[in-house]
Amino acid sequence: MERIDAKALAAKIKAEAAQQAARLREAGIVPKLSVILVGADPASEVYVRGKERDCAECGIESELLRLPAETSEAQLLAEIARRNADPAVHGILVQLPLPPQIREQRVIEAISPEKDVDGFTPVNVGRLLVGEDCFLPCTPAGCLALLKAAGTPIAGKRAVVLGRSNIVGKPMALLLLRENATVTICHSKTEHLSELTRQADILVAAIGRDRFVTAEMVKEGATVIDVGINRGPDGKLHGDVDEAALAGKAGKITPVPGGVGLMTRAMLMVNTLRAAQRAQEAQKEK
Ligand code: NDP
Repeated sequence: MERIDAKALAAKIKAEAAQQAARLREAGIVPKLSVILVGADPASEVYVRGKERDCAECGIESELLRLPAETSEAQLLAEIARRNADPAVHGILVQLPLPPQIREQRVIEAISPEKDVDGFTPVNVGRLLVGEDCFLPCTPAGCLALLKAAGTPIAGKRAVVLGRSNIVGKPMALLLLRENATVTICHSKTEHLSELTRQADILVAAIGRDRFVTAEMVKEGATVIDVGINRGPDGKLHGDVDEAALAGKAGKITPVPGGVGLMTRAMLMVNTLRAAQRAQEAQKEK
């Protein structure tokens, strides 16, 4: 079983991003990502710090707005509106989850689709669905890049996506469909799950269940992309896939940690630069 080298691919993508950022800066555009964090969720803190580091590494300016946990939806929407209107800001990211008094979907919908570097707004989701140019959600885009880098054939193959969330499962299925795979989406109500997963040439697991996918659920030689990040009873991070049990069964697999998570971060840099590039093009057209 081969481990797909996400570390090397993420480093390559970030190095290319740094070159692109330098070119934009030479042309007078300083690419900028604005991150908004509401409350102090410990996991969110870690993610936000990672994003700041990535930006610094790639030559992207980053700004972090910290708002207290009791912030109202109206206050958050006002901050988003300010950033939508600020031409110096190219990408806006509101770190999820949000406190219960704030409606997540309402907030996502407030972000300008041209600055939606997470690819979560209905406009970008719709563009993905109909096959138009759009910001791709970072995690599924990272998974697809990993499949391509691993040389896994996609067109005509059976792909099974475990999980149907708006941020991973659904857009992942759309991306695989766009690449001409035959796609099945499974979720918590799916019957005979193992029968379906065993047919998959490509299996993407995004359910948030510690080492849920076992060897019996996987086709011999399949490529397995493990999106899950779960804290196991041993206190360590594990994927949705029992990697150790799959040895000798799966063909290729992504590790956790050090797999899809690195790609998600790299793709955010790609999307931010794309937003900045588009802003430059729009400026030229004026
Ligand atoms: P959600 O909780 O939003 O969605 C989980 C999905 O899995 C749901 O569609 C649910 O089905 C399905 N599911 C849950 N249990 C089962 C089961 N026993 N059998 C079949 N399907 C099941 O999670 P996310 O999509 O946000 O995240 C999934 C995992 O990926 C998490 O571990 C998360 O931490 C990780 N993640 C990792 C990222 C990375 O960069 N590596 C980025 C984002 C997430 P139903 O719809 O029926 O409830």
